[in-house]
Amino acid sequence: ILNLGAGPSSLPTSVLLQSAQDLLDYKGTGIGLCELSHRSGTFKQILDSAESDLRSLLSIPEDYAVLFTQGGGTEQFSATALNLLAYDAARHGRAPGTLDYAVTGSWSSKAIKEGERMGGRVKAVTDSKKRDGKFGRIAPIEEWELSPASECAMLYYCDNETVDGVEFPSPGLPIHQLPDDYRKNVPIVADCSSNILSRPIDVAAHSLIFFGAQKNVGPPGVTILIARKSLLARHPDESIPFGGPRIPTTLVYKNLADNSSLYNTPPMFSIHVSGLVFRHLIEQGGVKGAEQRSSEKAQLVYSTIDESKGFYEGTTSATSRSRMNVTFRIKGGDDGLEGKFVEFCKERGIEQVKGHRSVGGIRASLYNAISVDDAKRLVEAMREFCGQHSG
Ligand code: PLP
Repeated sequence: ILNLGAGPSSLPTSVLLQSAQDLLDYKGTGIGLCELSHRSGTFKQILDSAESDLRSLLSIPEDYAVLFTQGGGTEQFSATALNLLAYDAARHGRAPGTLDYAVTGSWSSKAIKEGERMGGRVKAVTDSKKRDGKFGRIAPIEEWELSPASECAMLYYCDNETVDGVEFPSPGLPIHQLPDDYRKNVPIVADCSSNILSRPIDVAAHSLIFFGAQKNVGPPGVTILIARKSLLARHPDESIPFGGPRIPTTLVYKNLADNSSLYNTPPMFSIHVSGLVFRHLIEQGGVKGAEQRSSEKAQLVYSTIDESKGFYEGTTSATSRSRMNVTFRIKGGDDGLEGKFVEFCKERGIEQVKGHRSVGGIRASLYNAISVDDAKRLVEAMREFCGQHSG
């Protein structure tokens, strides 16, 4: 089976086999991985090696902490807003500033709504759907309406919009194009849940990068944060005199860091499997290798779309096409034909290509565990189907 699901998604077979073994008996201890104490030296080694491999894969500077937590990307929609509001209030000794969001797809839309629910004053610095009636093109930064840097608590963006198939073109948000005072003073927060480790990212230009594991990294359950240590220096309770919220203890970034991700019981299995994936990726040429493969896979599928003379139609503009989630319609959005395509793929062992329920159409996800040969298999099916139904 070739699983092109958008997440949870495929994992490398060797990693799955190893993790099944470890679940039964971790390294000959006679105790299964999830039966160990999370305070044991054995688990500490698992945590340390996952962290150190991730640090080497993404060249994470020393002044950044790597934190393992739970709650998924969705919980980070609240946690980012709460922590950054509190940090901003404590840093400037005033009420919290505005939360700037680049709304480029379904996930950043959810994030801004949650920022508002948390009591933040939010601003959409760009909103593709308001502008174009749909999510499909990221506007250039010069068109964004940023808040004044001195009044802004964070700039939030989603590097790859999983539902809509929209991604910032390589190498990601062009941070150098932000005005100087904004770039230097406003903490930048990125949701990289669906494209982390598929290309390098300039960690030092961000205050916080977060991602749920279940796409490019590992099984669902663990959410990983890469946080600038200065962001962790203050406890958010300091912001209370300025009307800041009281943040649940498990969401306080400083608390996670002070307890080395072990404030409460961590998702041990997901962390371990993520660690195995990091090791596997290092052996496969690291992030550079993943970047090359990702480009090649995306190129194969997009060129099949472009060469189909309108039979397949990409839903995103050429400059914002995602390398991870290729979204397209068939014959102008013919639901019946799209249903047939999903069945046609299934008969060939290609699963989970139906588009997200909110947007319809087809979505093929080409995460790191999908090989170039797998992408070729999809392309063959697309060509054959087009041959049978075009005209
Ligand atoms: N952000 C992005 C880009 C996602 O793709 C997803 C899930 O698919 C989320 C956030 C939400 O993640 P979770 O379901 O782990 O809360």
